[in-house]
Amino acid sequence: MFGKISEGFRNAINKIKLKDDEKSLKKALDELKKNLLKADVHFKTVKELIKKVEVETKRKGIGKANFLMALEDALSEILKAPGNFGFIFSTKPPTVVMMTGLQGSGKTTTTAKLAYYLKTFKKKKVLMVAADLQRLAAVEQLKQLAEANGLDIYYDENAKDAVEIAKKGVEFAKEKFYDVVLIDTAGRLAIDEELMNELVRMKEAVKPDEIFYVADSLTGKDAINTAKTFNEKLDITGVILTKYDGDSKGGVALSIAHQVGKPLRFLGTGEKIADLEVFIPDRIVSRLLG
Ligand code: GDP
Repeated sequence: MFGKISEGFRNAINKIKLKDDEKSLKKALDELKKNLLKADVHFKTVKELIKKVEVETKRKGIGKANFLMALEDALSEILKAPGNFGFIFSTKPPTVVMMTGLQGSGKTTTTAKLAYYLKTFKKKKVLMVAADLQRLAAVEQLKQLAEANGLDIYYDENAKDAVEIAKKGVEFAKEKFYDVVLIDTAGRLAIDEELMNELVRMKEAVKPDEIFYVADSLTGKDAINTAKTFNEKLDITGVILTKYDGDSKGGVALSIAHQVGKPLRFLGTGEKIADLEVFIPDRIVSRLLG
C-alpha cells in the first residue's frame, strides 16, 4: 500500500554517506523531496517536512541514524491533526455519525464497512440510515449491503426529505437502544450549495458526534481541496480515504490531515465489506520506514 513511498524514503536515507557531511544531507533531502512530490504528497506538506528533517538532523548531527530519527519525528507530527483516532463512542449512546462525501467517493460502501467493523470487532449495535435520496440506487444499495452482511438499516422508500429521514432514524435508534447510528447522506458530482445546505440542516437537526468526510484517494489533490470545503462548511471531525488499494500513489494519506487540520481516521482498502483499516499515525510511520 505504501510501497512506493517507502522505497522513496529508503532511497533518500541511502544518500547519506558520511558524518557531518552537508553535501550528502542536501542530496538526501533533494531525493526525499523528489520522491514525496512524485507520490502526490501536497507541496506545502513536503516543504514543511523537509525543513523539519533538515533542522533536526543538523541539530542532532548529520548521519544516517539521526536523519532517520528526524524523519520519523517529522512524519509523526505531520500525520497527527487535532482530534481522535479510530472510532470514538459517545458517553451517551447512540453515537451519531454523518457520512458525507461526493458521489462515487465510496460513501455508501464505507458506511456499510464501518457498520460491519463496529458490529464485528467492537460488538456494538449499529443502525445505518439511508438518507442519500439524491442517487436513486443509493437506498437500494445500502439495503443490499445490509442484507448481505447482516446489518441493520432504517429507510423509507417514499421519503422525500433527507433531513426528516435522518431525524427519524436517530429517534428510532434511541427507542431501540442502538449504540451507533451511521447516516449515509447525499453526494453530488461536485460541491454545490444545495448539497451543503442540506448537510448543514441535517447537522443542526441530528447534532452528530462525528462528521466523516469520505474522499476517493485516487482523486489526489482534489480529495484535499474538497475535504477543505466540507470542513469549512460543516466542521468535520475526520476524513476517511477510500480506494487505497488501487493506483493511489499514497501521498494523499500523508498530507490530508496536515492540510485540512482534521485527522485521517480510516482507510478503505478494497471493495469487500472487511476492507477498512483504522488509521493509526505511529503505526503507519513504522510501516513507511520499516
Ligand atoms: P458513493 O456514491 O460515494 O456512495 O459511492 P459507492 O459506495 O457506491 O462506491 C463507488 C464505487 O467505489 C463502488 O464500485 C465501490 O465498490 C467502490 N469502492 C468504495 N470503496 C472502495 C475501496 O476502498 N476500494 C475499492 N477498490 N473500491 C471501493
